[in-house]
Amino acid sequence: MQHYKTLRLILGDQLNVEHSWFKSKDQNVLNLILELHQEQLYVKHHIQKICAFFKAMENFSNALKKSGHEVAHLTLDDTAEYLTLSDCLMALCEQYQCSEIHIQQPDEYRLQQQLLTFQETVQQRNIQVTFFDTEHFILPKDDIPKYFRKDKHVRMENFYRTMRKRFNILMEKTDPVGGQWNFDADNRKHLKKDDLAGIPQPLIFANDVSLIIDRLQRHNIATLGKTENTLLWPCNRAQSRKLLQYFCQYCLPNFGRFQDAMTEQSKHAWSLYHSRISFALNTKMLHPLEVIEAAIDHYKQKNSLVDIAQVEGFTRQILGWREYVRGMYWINMPSIANTNTLKAKRSLPKWFWNGQTNMNCMRQAISQSLDYAYAHHIQRLMITGNFALLTGIQPDEVEQWYLGIYIDAIEWVELPNTRGMALSADGGLIATKPYASSGNYINKMSDYCKGCHYSVKTKTGSKACPFNSLYWYFLDEHKETFKKNPRMAFPYKAWQRMEVTEQKNILAHATELVNNLDDL
Ligand code: FAD
Ligand code: SF4
Repeated sequence: MQHYKTLRLILGDQLNVEHSWFKSKDQNVLNLILELHQEQLYVKHHIQKICAFFKAMENFSNALKKSGHEVAHLTLDDTAEYLTLSDCLMALCEQYQCSEIHIQQPDEYRLQQQLLTFQETVQQRNIQVTFFDTEHFILPKDDIPKYFRKDKHVRMENFYRTMRKRFNILMEKTDPVGGQWNFDADNRKHLKKDDLAGIPQPLIFANDVSLIIDRLQRHNIATLGKTENTLLWPCNRAQSRKLLQYFCQYCLPNFGRFQDAMTEQSKHAWSLYHSRISFALNTKMLHPLEVIEAAIDHYKQKNSLVDIAQVEGFTRQILGWREYVRGMYWINMPSIANTNTLKAKRSLPKWFWNGQTNMNCMRQAISQSLDYAYAHHIQRLMITGNFALLTGIQPDEVEQWYLGIYIDAIEWVELPNTRGMALSADGGLIATKPYASSGNYINKMSDYCKGCHYSVKTKTGSKACPFNSLYWYFLDEHKETFKKNPRMAFPYKAWQRMEVTEQKNILAHATELVNNLDDL
């Protein structure tokens, strides 16, 4: 058995071929890429999510081998006897007689804690463990405390402007390009009938994952959702780059404009103008700066179809929101993971797992998630998230659903979005007002209501849109928490203006609904 001085751990979301680790080759260093049982079991994942991770890891391992690096790619078959990552690493240390282990900083608190404990244990055996930067995020991890304080709200918009200035992105000297920091007001239109034909066909791939599916079955890994033997998600750097270029050419010209729109009237309703690069980004096959640069290059091209509102809107998602939620996650972990300020305690209705509900918007968002392991931001926030918020579903349950079902779900980004943005479970750390809405908003931004069993126009009665009464029920239930919030003054005034009998009818109807969520 060959011995190696150094083992390098490369986690499934650390597939960054540009990392300085790979600038030179060293025959004394063995790169470890491990399919681990513990990672399939901490939550029930969508089958496409596991297939995408495993395929991308396999491709990454092949790319490293091809460029002359030493690699051990262990599949579930090879790691079946190890319950945990630490057990597996320990066995590999012994097998290869290494004296050093190099680890890139994990992005998840759970893995960080596990690896710190592992470090203590192996150092007692004279094996040196060293942590390295992932070289992925735009804001260095050590700088997070400069911008974020534990238990303190930080305005995303302020953080984003600071990042624009610090990294000189879309800036003309000290001013923002286009004279405005934020073009949100020009964006966020709904899709009209005439817009539907223009929705681009999504670029999809055909990665063979049949052997991975066999492996999952062989090891009895429980999954959700469905998959084909060929997977449409990008599973290597070349595919990720292709998807990015395709997005810039065909989707970016309308990205901001239709960012919040939803429809069921198009074959491409699931993808619309979204980039679908979150998996490629979160596995680090793409770097966020290269994504922003590609979008800005397209904006700057002669006769470009991309205007400033679109490129600014997109840049804000990557440089603003993505870096922001990571900062909020690390500064507030682990306490944020246990927050439940609104004391939500109900269980998810069973149709969250199969999409079989009469609420058309929920059916569309959930069925699409089961089919593609993907839903866009507004489907996650204002459809499923809004429902879980209004009905008071326990945050741990909601989080397990989001963490399992989406192709891009990794805790550092899922948790602040779910607990903070969607559920307001964090006491207002991330969002200063709850993202609660009645059926009106959904009707404005989508065509879902037209084909729905329920009527978006009514609040009570067996055919009334559940969101309508649930919205007022939520406001009434949490009035002590929200009534003094100036951003909530308008809806509370509208509630007070309502006749008492109407209020009572709405609350009675909503109570009936929350007690029978499985029947909706
Ligand atoms: P686009 O709409 O094309 O946006 C471009 C990119 O911007 C995304 O790829 C993403 O990297 C970034 N981005 C946009 N919004 C956010 C945001 N709020 N937070 C962080 N990054 C953002 N995103 C994840 O990557 N993983 C998750 O597990 C995840 N869970 C979410 C859970 C909830 C309840 C909500 C409301 C949002 C969640 N998001 C998550 C954020 C967002 O919905 C996804 O990043 C986006 O839908 C991914 O699709 P896309 O690549 O087509 O994004
Ligand atoms: Fe959703 Fe209500 Fe519209 Fe039906 S009527 S699609 S439940 S918002």
